[in-house]
Amino acid sequence: MPFTLPELPYPIDALEPHISKQTLEFHYGKHHQAYVNNLNKLIPDTEFADLSLEEIIMKADGGIFNNAAQVWNHTFYWNCLSPNGGGMPDGKLEIAINAFFESFDNFKEQFSTAAATLFGSGWVWLIKDAYGNLDIVQASNADCPITSGLTPLLTCDVWEHAYYLDKQNARPAYVADFWELVDWKAVGARF
Ligand code: MN
Repeated sequence: MPFTLPELPYPIDALEPHISKQTLEFHYGKHHQAYVNNLNKLIPDTEFADLSLEEIIMKADGGIFNNAAQVWNHTFYWNCLSPNGGGMPDGKLEIAINAFFESFDNFKEQFSTAAATLFGSGWVWLIKDAYGNLDIVQASNADCPITSGLTPLLTCDVWEHAYYLDKQNARPAYVADFWELVDWKAVGARF
């Protein structure tokens, strides 16, 4: 059963003006789709052919891991964003962020710094560990926190393809707009 590109949870122009329709046409329509297509080409007649996406991520390495994890990471990323996003968390997540990062502003600053300083391509994650601790994790290339037993709550894609059409090389400007789109209800539900 081949993998398919999941539907975006909003129209392709819904994240404007923060992320343009053109960026989503490439980032979702071309890049995310390519990871799906590559995975479907790589897994037939391998031990991964009948596994779920998560099972492949946990067991594979090399190209199969890279493409499977990029499929998963992008689906997760789209579901971190909403045209009605922005603002700040509430409830238990707000309490936890204040406990682990002193304040929401301090959390945003630490996460933004992690995004700005990640060298090369990758992802920045807010994760919850097995003990319930929150942390910010920089991950290179396709790395995905579920392989370390961590629960991802929020991610920001800092590959250049996520922002180059809108912001060229200005990754911090992309991250600043990212905060205007974060779906804190979804993040809180994961927590
Ligand atoms: Mn991407």
